[in-house]
Amino acid sequence: MGLEVKKLNLGFECEGQFNQALFNVSFSLKKGQIHALVGESGCGKTISAMSILRLLPKTARVTSGEILFEGEDLLQRKNMESVRGAKIALIPQDPMTSLNPLYTIENQLLEVIKKHQGLEDEQALDVAMRALDAVHIPPDRMKSYPHEFSGGMKQRAIIAMALSAGAQVLIADEPTTALDVTIQAQIMKLLHEIKHDTAILLITHDLALVGENADFVSVMYGGRVVESAPVREFFKNTAHPYSQGLLNSLPSCSSLEPIEGQPPTIYEEISGCRFHPRCKKRMDICSEQNPRMYKLSDEHFCACLLYN
Ligand code: SF4
Repeated sequence: MGLEVKKLNLGFECEGQFNQALFNVSFSLKKGQIHALVGESGCGKTISAMSILRLLPKTARVTSGEILFEGEDLLQRKNMESVRGAKIALIPQDPMTSLNPLYTIENQLLEVIKKHQGLEDEQALDVAMRALDAVHIPPDRMKSYPHEFSGGMKQRAIIAMALSAGAQVLIADEPTTALDVTIQAQIMKLLHEIKHDTAILLITHDLALVGENADFVSVMYGGRVVESAPVREFFKNTAHPYSQGLLNSLPSCSSLEPIEGQPPTIYEEISGCRFHPRCKKRMDICSEQNPRMYKLSDEHFCACLLYN
């Protein structure tokens, strides 16, 4: 059981113009795996993930593609209520914005469980206690309000809500960005503990986090997936010049080599490879030909003309 995004094309209507933001984006999420979606801000990670939940701005328009889940294309579904929060849940960057400060954690958990699982009070309470136990929150903290929880506990309470609703897919959008380093480690450990029952999409720009925690990685640039591979293969044989640039930009004891220039906005039309204005390995053909995904090994793909 998992989820597959297939050749998703999406753009935004702006003052009578259509600006494309996602180009043939494809990736799949598998139960038992953490799949990291990596790239600089504005590369299309979050909008790809929000397309899965169909939580898109009014100006967004999907022009083609499929999002397959439980044998159905989510883009064709009339109503997402029974999917959103219940089968596919979002773990946001800042948990405080997702918890209601006026209600206790117990109230909020029970509301989710009753709505999505249709259980009565006693059974719902039992599910809530098990969900809190799974995220290492003692049951006696159930009656606390969100402001009485630390940042890490709030994030764990959100994860408990997703688990108690029975979510099969978790979309974790930079889930540790707002937390300090020790708490980050706790949340990632927790995602590992629960991944055997779920498929997890981890959106991040932090390659160190990916190396330590993900099973599979897809790198996005300018609205395209430019490289995808199992995480070990990715770090051993990083193929795309953009992925190599991201790795060289990691702080280390030796040199720090940032990628020159800025990622493209959706208003810029770039012919050929969208990375060519910033690529140190560009060839004459790169500004004319748009690279397709080349297969480098069983599960390793790269959109770069160097592998043509
Ligand atoms: Fe660089 Fe050309 Fe490969 Fe694009 S296709 S990443 S410009 S070498």
